[in-house]
Amino acid sequence: MAKVKLNAMETNQEPGGDFDVVIVGAGFAGLYMLHRMRGLGFSARVFEAGSGVGGTWFWNRYPGARCDVESMEYSYQFSDELQQEWVWTERYASQPEILRYLNHVADRFSLRRDIQLNTHVLAATFNETAGRWTIETSAGNRVSAQFCVMATGCLSSTNTPNFKGRSHFAGPSYHTGNWPQEGVDFIGKRVGVIGTGSSAVQCIPLIAQQASHLNVFQRTPTYTIPAHNGPLDPEVQREVKANYANFRAYNKLLPSGLNIRHNEASALAIPKEERQHEYEERWAHGGLPFLGAFADLLFSKEANDTAAEFIHEKIRSAVHDPVIAEKLLPRIVFGCKRPCVDTGYYQTFNRSNVTLVNVSSSPIEEITENGLTVKGKKYELDAIVFATGYDAMTGSLLKIDIRGHCGRSLKEAWAEGPRTYLGVATVGFPNLFTITGPGSPSVLTNMIPSIEQHVEWIADCVLYVRDHGFVCIKPTLAAQDAWVHHVNSVAGATLFPTCNSWYLGANIPGKSRVFMPYLGFPPYVQKCNDVAAKGYEGFVLIRGNDGERHAALSR
Ligand code: FAD
Ligand code: NAP
Repeated sequence: MAKVKLNAMETNQEPGGDFDVVIVGAGFAGLYMLHRMRGLGFSARVFEAGSGVGGTWFWNRYPGARCDVESMEYSYQFSDELQQEWVWTERYASQPEILRYLNHVADRFSLRRDIQLNTHVLAATFNETAGRWTIETSAGNRVSAQFCVMATGCLSSTNTPNFKGRSHFAGPSYHTGNWPQEGVDFIGKRVGVIGTGSSAVQCIPLIAQQASHLNVFQRTPTYTIPAHNGPLDPEVQREVKANYANFRAYNKLLPSGLNIRHNEASALAIPKEERQHEYEERWAHGGLPFLGAFADLLFSKEANDTAAEFIHEKIRSAVHDPVIAEKLLPRIVFGCKRPCVDTGYYQTFNRSNVTLVNVSSSPIEEITENGLTVKGKKYELDAIVFATGYDAMTGSLLKIDIRGHCGRSLKEAWAEGPRTYLGVATVGFPNLFTITGPGSPSVLTNMIPSIEQHVEWIADCVLYVRDHGFVCIKPTLAAQDAWVHHVNSVAGATLFPTCNSWYLGANIPGKSRVFMPYLGFPPYVQKCNDVAAKGYEGFVLIRGNDGERHAALSR
């Protein structure tokens, strides 16, 4: 009870209340959702677990954290004043800069007064008679809302594998996705980094510069493309801003909502020299546009092999010791896990204070008081960094006890893997929306335009419900089944499902394997627009008195 009072005093907000909309999460998605709902005249409250706004960019303060989508694209476009006034300093913005930007957004649009920080949403329960959600939080709030929007993030539920003896480690350990705000000093320390995904690839080169010794525990070698990051040329920034609307509109028509300079040619249809030239040019440019080198890289294994071989050669030339280089060669399909973007990653393994430890065939056996063991060999460590990723896309949603129709939980509904209509709504959970939920393009795109598209679609939908005298909206089973089938068949035609990626849930023991994101931003946007234009086709809209509503919702 004391905690409730403290929280209410800190944020000047009451523990109870009735709102049109409750929004969970204050990252890019939650902040814009709040702004949009308020702009339409709805009352809204945001609950955020962190002690500040920013989401991903609040939590991920590890050394080297930055975006892999260029700054001029990785930002909101809903306000031209905002995109004109904000000045990005680097080609790929660093975590502190993105966090500053999101705090600026919160201030500029006066969002803070409706955001309650330090507050975990624990449960959301739909009351069929009232047609409203009840939301309960760790701070003792119990509020009601007609609509509930989950802006909980796709990569916000950290995964720390349950290694034997984990709690016995005497030194500090950190997860990249929950990094101490005050930073960490690794100078003179023996450090172990577990994992070699995007987060690891960013922090390893910097931790290596501080640590007395760094052991990198690698299960699956990763493909990483050099970022060639640097100061953002003010002239480039000026040119983009002069034409920002067209720049954004053009990018939204691209498959990932992101300009990776898609080449329509097949990797197999041209002579090897030409192919090499294309790869060299993209390697020199840096970053995710390497993925756009050829149209068939994610459809033909033979085409994909040409990209893999090219990167293998780059690794062999970057790493002096051929034995270490060989250990770093990725053998999975290029792109079936999100490629990393790095600054000096492979070169870091030339340092005498860095050791690459293979934990693929011989996994980490045990964490001990002062290190860990692999194949009976002991690695003495002063600190451990878990760069072990996330329970992606569904993790944060399923941590909340969400109960819809007849008290059925989302956990039960998604027991065989997530099932949604368009990634925004789920059968049995009326008036509940998920921003960038499973079944939407989300993590296969530049996330910011995807988030904005969802926010705007959800806001329009809520407005439609209100203005047409309805009280509830819920997807039909037929529409959801057809959508899930479509998402799977699109993914099934590609090489994406061929490796154990987090896109598939394969990184979490026991998680159902379903390819969660939808491939193709423009067709997805078109589908969403068509659904809305047809009066929310595939949804049931409900009006009426309590009795009628209850009957309709119970069907
Ligand atoms: P988040 O930023 O994850 O925010 C969700 C918020 O919800 C969090 O603050 C969390 O605390 C809160 N929350 C969750 N559950 C609860 C609960 N029960 N109660 C209260 N609060 C809750 N995407 C790109 O497109 N390009 C990039 O370059 C890129 N780089 C990335 C780098 C890192 C290190 C990571 C982890 C992700 C990156 N992403 C990138 C993906 C990134 O997550 C999105 O771009 C974007 O920031 C997501 O915003 P969001 O608001 O949807 O979610
Ligand atoms: P990740 O890509 O899932 O990588 C996790 C790493 O930990 C993998 O190498 C994984 O190995 C390893 N791992 C997990 N469990 C393990 C175990 N039990 N034993 C040994 N190793 C284990 O997570 P991430 O690096 O945090 O990135 C997640 C996503 O966030 C990215 O794909 C990207 O979308 C986003 N991100 C982007 C950036 C950026 O550049 N802007 C930076 C960070 C994150 P396996 O591969 O064998 O599972």
